[in-house]
Amino acid sequence: MDGFGDARWYAMRPAGSRKPATYRCPFCRGHLPALTDHLLVLPEGDATRRRHAHTACVTRARANGRLPLREEVEPLRPGLLARLLRRS
Ligand SMILES: [Zn+2]
Repeated sequence: MDGFGDARWYAMRPAGSRKPATYRCPFCRGHLPALTDHLLVLPEGDATRRRHAHTACVTRARANGRLPLREEVEPLRPGLLARLLRRS
């Protein structure tokens, strides 16, 4: 699965493609016409590994805990803000 499934976190954004292409959703393996509203999923923010996915499939994967966001696996250290404020 080309490194898509084993990323530590994922970024998601609305797809803005206007190409008349059809993608395959990595979650349900179903076809996904590019012109329908859907989402881009970027493993660890890596655009070269991005996949087009149905919005409903992304929502379901999020609910199942399969698509952690960066801030969920790499929480800001509590001391960071304090240190930034102290420096100024
Ligand atoms: Zn799907």
